[in-house]
Amino acid sequence: MSLVIRNARVRGHQQIVDISIDTDHIDAVGANLPKSDRREIDAAGGLVLPGFFNLHFHADKCLLGEIMRPNVSGTLPEAIEITNHHKRNYDPEEVAARAIRALKVGIQNGTTFFRLFADVGTIGGLRAARGLILARERLARYCTIQVVAFPQEGIVRDQGAAELLEEAVREGCDIVGGLPWYEYTDSEARQHIDICFAIARRRDLDIHMLVDDTDDANSRSLEYLALKTMREGWHGRVTASHCGAMAAYNDVYAAKVIDMVATAQVTISVNAHINLVCSARIDREPKRRGIARVKELIARGVNVVTSQDDVHDPYYPFGKPDPLECASMIAHVAQLTLPHEIEQVVDMITTSSARAARVRDYGLAPGCRADLVVVGAATLNEAIRLQPLRRHVIRDGREIARAMVTQELLS
Ligand SMILES: [Zn+2]
Repeated sequence: MSLVIRNARVRGHQQIVDISIDTDHIDAVGANLPKSDRREIDAAGGLVLPGFFNLHFHADKCLLGEIMRPNVSGTLPEAIEITNHHKRNYDPEEVAARAIRALKVGIQNGTTFFRLFADVGTIGGLRAARGLILARERLARYCTIQVVAFPQEGIVRDQGAAELLEEAVREGCDIVGGLPWYEYTDSEARQHIDICFAIARRRDLDIHMLVDDTDDANSRSLEYLALKTMREGWHGRVTASHCGAMAAYNDVYAAKVIDMVATAQVTISVNAHINLVCSARIDREPKRRGIARVKELIARGVNVVTSQDDVHDPYYPFGKPDPLECASMIAHVAQLTLPHEIEQVVDMITTSSARAARVRDYGLAPGCRADLVVVGAATLNEAIRLQPLRRHVIRDGREIARAMVTQELLS
């Protein structure tokens, strides 16, 4: 379908513009585009952004908080332990149904690209991956979904996981996951990373690992991941999530690792919600926050993104699948409050994420894929501050979600 979005505010344009869409791609952006017989949507002066990304979402575990006991200690190890009970009995249909419930909310909030982490290991086998592959098929008309084969219990310490990861990518997972910091020793963490690269190389896949997600200043998996990325020539094809230990590294070591990350073109995904809740549980005061050094990374030219991670599960009891909420959280946590920093925050859920996922036809220029979100806000600041309704969500030139709610103060 072809359409025109009128009266839009678009980043990089001083004046209000119209956006013309031919079938599934943008064919013109400019003021007062001529009338045509295409269907029209009035953005009413609202901001139009390219579709949002969530590059790190454990959709297989989402909403387990509705049926499982709470995480009493609030720590990652307890979250892993209590989830295992449930994982033994996963049914792919049930996983898909739960994931789709959360994903639909994310789509209504303007997300058109998700990277979903599926636990793969000897406890749950391939059942979570099969569930998320089902969700990918069922939501294909609404969004792009990549499924990550993610070894939640480790690879070396979970003997059999390496073979299951191979099987998961054979069955259709798109990305090789990893959790090297969770191995027992540094040498096994390096072995873990080596195994992930071997699978990625055999299948020509990108990699997305959860790295140094600990308060331990001596956690060394990001350093080795960057080194391995350089040695394997996987530049620009690797994302490292969390990297909270970076906050505890000494400054000299942090500068060296950030330099390696920049050289290897590794993207860093900062998942602020969960790190604020799970990190530093055993600290007295002052408590660390377990957040990667965002400003130092950006200053060194590292691609930084932010993602939702968890939605109402044993790791994190809240979570609205909304990239604007993530943007607000990272703006606070990384102290990104100046006008140019607010632009950087919006980049994290849009253009920087597209770069991480190597999506080429992304953006708001002629030729780009027509995945768009019309936000009920006039400025980026207002979008992050109010996280207002997404008035329209467009996927491949077709309106797929619309906000109908109005709210008013009565006299
Ligand atoms: Zn995660």
